[in-house]
Amino acid sequence: MSPSRRDFIKFVVVGSVAAGCPFDAALLAAPETCSGNAPLVHGERFEVCHQIRHGRPFTRPDATRKADLVIVGGGIAGLSAAYFLRGKDWLLLEKDDYFGGNALQEEFDGQAFATGSAYAYTGDYGDQLAKQIGLPLPLVNNPDPTIVNKTFVPDTWKTGLDQLPYSKEVRASFKKFRDDVVKFNLRERLAELDIQPFSNFTGAYVPQVQQWWDGFGRSNWGAAAQDTSALVGLGAVQDLVTGGDGKRAILPGGLGCITHKLVELLRQEYSERMLHGAAVVAVMQDKDAVRVTYLREGTLVTVVSKAVLMCVPKHIASHIVMGLANAQKAAMRRIRYAPYPVVNLIFDKPVYNRAYDSWCPGNTFTDFIVADWTVRNSPGYTQKHNILSFYTPLREEQRASLLGEKDCRLLAARVLADFQKLLPELHVDPVEVRIFRRGHPMFMAVPGQYTKNRILASQPMERIFFGNSDSGGPESLTSEAVRLSKVGAEWAEFILAGRPGARELVEKALAATFD
Ligand SMILES: Cc1cc2nc3c(=O)[nH]c(=O)nc-3n(C[C@H](O)[C@H](O)[C@H](O)COP(=O)(O)OP(=O)(O)OC[C@H]3O[C@@H](n4cnc5c(N)ncnc54)[C@H](O)[C@@H]3O)c2cc1C
Repeated sequence: MSPSRRDFIKFVVVGSVAAGCPFDAALLAAPETCSGNAPLVHGERFEVCHQIRHGRPFTRPDATRKADLVIVGGGIAGLSAAYFLRGKDWLLLEKDDYFGGNALQEEFDGQAFATGSAYAYTGDYGDQLAKQIGLPLPLVNNPDPTIVNKTFVPDTWKTGLDQLPYSKEVRASFKKFRDDVVKFNLRERLAELDIQPFSNFTGAYVPQVQQWWDGFGRSNWGAAAQDTSALVGLGAVQDLVTGGDGKRAILPGGLGCITHKLVELLRQEYSERMLHGAAVVAVMQDKDAVRVTYLREGTLVTVVSKAVLMCVPKHIASHIVMGLANAQKAAMRRIRYAPYPVVNLIFDKPVYNRAYDSWCPGNTFTDFIVADWTVRNSPGYTQKHNILSFYTPLREEQRASLLGEKDCRLLAARVLADFQKLLPELHVDPVEVRIFRRGHPMFMAVPGQYTKNRILASQPMERIFFGNSDSGGPESLTSEAVRLSKVGAEWAEFILAGRPGARELVEKALAATFD
């Protein structure tokens, strides 16, 4: 696309990469001097960022607020924990100015679309919660196509391998890969497969096979085949080949539809206990209480509580929770996260409605979805705008490219240009392009993360529970965030009642492997 044509399209860059002050900054270094003694925190918002980054000692103000429970992080983990703990005295603290985290819905002219998390599976914990809050999720009911070499192949892994626009030998290699992989008994070999890279199992086939799965992996769990646990990669192949994708269910807004509804419901009763723009900077467990210090509108406040549910990713928890055992802190910091922008192209007429989730090897984006797919044929519904969400995961070393608005706009322009080249009929300009950037949204399903590192990283402290989807697995899943928040809510009840067995409850939940 020529620069002059691009000038007529509105590009909107949303989301913050560095604005996770002080935490993204703290990722650079929060020297151990911070965690030795009682943390001292004072000063203005940005001064605090700098002081944490430079390892200066901080003071905390005395507690001026009390709550039985503090929930740190207002993504789906924190919101669902608050929901499961309705009726209890909790305070929810979210650093951003909005709730939802990586499951965030946005709207264009009243039409919802996803900026992150896309779909649930019927019956999973996310779907169950959606039902409970009056949001039944319709089935996607459409297999995944591939668009490659200007060819649309409707159902890639079940009936499409013979239609891939490659040579006979390449297609035969795809089929051999599929037939070999379905034979694996993943349950029996779970531990052994989880510590190996998936590329051990893709390397024996034509490079196009790995290219396809590199894209699928980066989109779904942040990692290409060589950085992916073989358990996760092989599991995904089996799922697609055997029709597991038939269980996908969602509404416009992706899984942001659930957080959106949770916020709406919780606000009706608890709005004064839901603080956004409240960045937690220190969590300190004493014998009988936990003190949580947060920064809001330039003021530091300490709240004293009986227990805390940490619903933030571990790379953040490791910097703000004091007194973590060294091995646990190291495990938290070993978790890797993929930088992950999502680009939404908004058209004022139908441009692409052929499939829900289309895979496009060899492009700036891995795949794209149609925002209103599951409601498009509902009686009385008309598609005002055709909104397409493009998944554009980056490699870890590309994270800094999200810092500048200009680079983000260029990335979005590349997404648009690649889309327009996929098929001749797609050479249409959108009315608006939105890019939602996130620096560390999705933990990568690397070898050993699921069966080893996660368990160590997620151990509860006496009065601190570590939730978030990165306590679960085998990949970053909203359903896992919800499952663990359910466990966290039960754990909190044990702690509040002074009943024994809280730790055992959590250990059992962490040890439970996927179905
Ligand atoms: C592009 C993309 C597509 C995805 N697609 C799917 C999908 O189709 N299906 C699926 O199941 N999953 C999907 N996922 C994964 C899913 O989005 C996540 O697993 C889930 O949203 C994580 O929720 P969470 O609450 O555990 O964590 P988060 O969403 O990370 O929430 C943590 C919250 O804590 C806040 N926070 C951080 N630090 C602090 C602090 N110091 N003080 C206060 N608040 C703080 C953050 O701002 C954030 O709101 C996708 C993820 C991405 C990025």
